[in-house]
Amino acid sequence: MLTHETISEKIIEPLLFEMSTPGHNAGRLPAYLDVPAADLPQELQRADLPLPDMSEVQVVRHFTRLSQLNFSVDTHFYPLGSCTMKYNPKVNDWAAALTGFTHIHPYQPEATAQGALEMLYQLQYILGEIAGLPHVTLQPSAGAHGELTGLLVIMGYHRSRGDSKRTRVLVPDSAHGTNPATAAMCGCTVTHIPTDSRGNLDYDILQREMDDTVAAIMLTNPNTLGLFEERILEVTTLVHERGGLVYCDGANMNAVLGIARPGDLGCDVLHYNLHKTFTVPHGGGGPGAGGTAVRDTLAPFLPAPLVARRDGPHGPEYYLDYDRPQSIGRVRAFYGNFGNAVRGYSYLRSMGAPGVREVSENAVLNANYIRVNLADAFDLPYDRVCKHEAVFSGRRQARLGVRTLDIAKRLIDYGIHPPTVYFPLIVEEALMIEPTETETLETLDHFVATMKRIAREAEETPELVKEAPHTTPISRPDDVAAARKPVVRWQAGG
Ligand SMILES: *Cc1c(COP(=O)(O)O)cnc(C)c1O
Repeated sequence: MLTHETISEKIIEPLLFEMSTPGHNAGRLPAYLDVPAADLPQELQRADLPLPDMSEVQVVRHFTRLSQLNFSVDTHFYPLGSCTMKYNPKVNDWAAALTGFTHIHPYQPEATAQGALEMLYQLQYILGEIAGLPHVTLQPSAGAHGELTGLLVIMGYHRSRGDSKRTRVLVPDSAHGTNPATAAMCGCTVTHIPTDSRGNLDYDILQREMDDTVAAIMLTNPNTLGLFEERILEVTTLVHERGGLVYCDGANMNAVLGIARPGDLGCDVLHYNLHKTFTVPHGGGGPGAGGTAVRDTLAPFLPAPLVARRDGPHGPEYYLDYDRPQSIGRVRAFYGNFGNAVRGYSYLRSMGAPGVREVSENAVLNANYIRVNLADAFDLPYDRVCKHEAVFSGRRQARLGVRTLDIAKRLIDYGIHPPTVYFPLIVEEALMIEPTETETLETLDHFVATMKRIAREAEETPELVKEAPHTTPISRPDDVAAARKPVVRWQAGG
């Protein structure tokens, strides 16, 4: 068996910046400068610049090596639950890079940007169709931003009716943290609705809490346990009967595309995460894209401008509709993350309606394949057919002293990005696995075999799991310090 030491010797070479050799260098300034010398102010001058002395090839290898230390969908299986880390087809990047899209300016006259406006209009239309909620703004930059937009729309609606006592928002205890955060940002208070033993939100408690102080319920369907809310129609009917509105967190739309439309289930507002469901690359914290869809009654409150179409002398014309007197106002500069709208549009058009439905069918099939195949090795707190993700509990392994975090770290040694862990909060030692539709059967089998192997290791050689990962330059960073005080720069002598 490989020990920690032999693995590090085998795999981890010193980072090249530590191999600085005095006198090496990669830059070559021309002998005669063709720009005039300038007097730098004293405070901008420095006596020394402690940089490593490296040759050009060493610098290239350093940065190439660093880039390869990352896990990404393009290099590794990435079953990070709730995040939908599916493969992002490169044709979408090609489309977003077309000069017709990249060489335009948001302030140029509408008549000269008809293609871009038509693309946005069509994307609004398709997203509205999938949601069963026909009015869509593409301004939000991400899911959480879409939530804020949607809840502001809901509050605008209640206010327009003089209904100012509705300041409570009901949120299931399985919800993503952004849901209660959004409610708080809108000045509302949050009441948590517990989850029942089948993994649905507790209908009896909902009945008790749902009164005329409730502005909305924020629910996720399928919920973060990966389970379809079995009483969704009763839930939305009850909320409506008592004057509330239904906000649906659409982060899990990958489970129901072309199969169940939130609008038909009684939801009034839905946000999309284009970066999750519609293949905008994400995972490095880069720009996402939201999009919020609403039903007719809420349309007047959407942010301005929306992209609209009218008949012109030579056919349809696309324009930015600012004439929205009840609008909540802008939530973002210009028209959203435009390049990511192109990616989402390109993806949707290349899949077509039947392809979009197939996405969800395969995402659900793959998740259930994992659910069934790992059911012996890990506990399943809610054991019924799941949608696009399967949520296990690592409590059996935790009793052996191997926690879910250790299992996640051990997966890194086997070249697999860890699943989401410790979320949803209501599952002890949660392991939330979302394989997505783009993985092959071989990859799923390899993952199942690896998880079973780790479960065996937890019994036979627990230390091996508890000290993982063994193959990375740093094994267990202080997560909090890494996030709060990141050191991302090489420092001389550091
Ligand atoms: C990802 C996610 C969000 C937040 O979306 P962002 O695009 O990260 O802002 C909200 N709810 C759920 C269930 C999610 O998975």
